[in-house]
Amino acid sequence: MRVYNFSAGPAVLPEEVLKEAADEMLDYQGSGMSVMEMSHRSKTYDKIIKDAEADLRDLMNIPDNYKVLFLQGGASSQFAMIPMNLMKNKVADYIVTGQWAKKAYQEASIYGKANKIASSEDATFSYIPDCSDLPISEDADYVYICENNTIYGTKFKTLPNTKGKTLVADVSSCFLSEPVDVTKYGLIYGGVQKNIGPAGVVIVIIREDLITEDVLCGTPTMFKYKIHADNESLYNTPPAYGIYICGKVFKWLKKQGGLAAMKEYNEKKAAVLYDFLDESSLFKGTVRKEDRSLMNVPFVTGNEELDAKFVKEAAAAGFVNLKGHRSVGGMRASIYNAMPIEGVEKLVAFMKEFEKNNA
Ligand SMILES: *Cc1c(COP(=O)(O)O)cnc(C)c1O
Repeated sequence: MRVYNFSAGPAVLPEEVLKEAADEMLDYQGSGMSVMEMSHRSKTYDKIIKDAEADLRDLMNIPDNYKVLFLQGGASSQFAMIPMNLMKNKVADYIVTGQWAKKAYQEASIYGKANKIASSEDATFSYIPDCSDLPISEDADYVYICENNTIYGTKFKTLPNTKGKTLVADVSSCFLSEPVDVTKYGLIYGGVQKNIGPAGVVIVIIREDLITEDVLCGTPTMFKYKIHADNESLYNTPPAYGIYICGKVFKWLKKQGGLAAMKEYNEKKAAVLYDFLDESSLFKGTVRKEDRSLMNVPFVTGNEELDAKFVKEAAAAGFVNLKGHRSVGGMRASIYNAMPIEGVEKLVAFMKEFEKNNA
């Protein structure tokens, strides 16, 4: 029996995709082998990775002057790869809205002058600061954000005013959850294990003029965007099976109607939970309303023992991985693209019952 998996990541994937992958496990389309066993230089695999890129370009409407790279090392390796490649003046501005942005900021400080130009740490990252007129550094190579804060459940609803500087965004936990205007960014990246595929793949979408030989001295070959761009993500063995699953998810998303349709569905789905949190006498959301994420929904009862009881009873009823991150406490429901609305409706029904029994 499959459960409703509210994990923040690795997270729920479309059942249809998993079944298809299972069907193709032993013999991928007559090749007589699994995609896992296949040369990444084979014709068969070349089609898999090329189709994946084409479908992603289609979904996100990625302009021709942007490269799509399928890399490894998780989102966390990008915390270093970004400054190593982009910090030409050795200056960058960071907006710190959570643990992931903070880690990226700290990592960048190793390579140059990273400026924290805004933060919401004063209130446990429960809101997005006003970014309409920040003190952007004159010589900043880029402005960095984490667009959706997985742990705290906040999301940038409007992008910061970077005053002409290149915007770099970690979109790990909101990747493909709604349409994006790629042209507003210099670089978009995300680990796929939140909303797209299996852990082990990180996708980088980068404007071509940002890909140069001029990187920080000592940058390892594997950490240069140029080497991966020149080799179309096949400089070395890519995370081949993971990319194959991502490709299937891209096709699944197109079948759902693309990102505009996903946004509509995600809004409807999140409203089921947020509307209940707003009227509940027991459960409360922890995030400022206007900054609420469609993907990660943290909530508390205000009583730690009751929180623990809820997480335990929910798991027994088939709603798993609802325990909140240790820095926020309470609960967190991650309701990514592949979480069906029925899962959220049933969770809310369970919460109502719990509220009645624990009044
Ligand atoms: C999970 C997550 C990361 C870290 O991803 P890894 O692939 O484990 O390195 C970074 N940023 C965000 C927003 C995340 O949700």
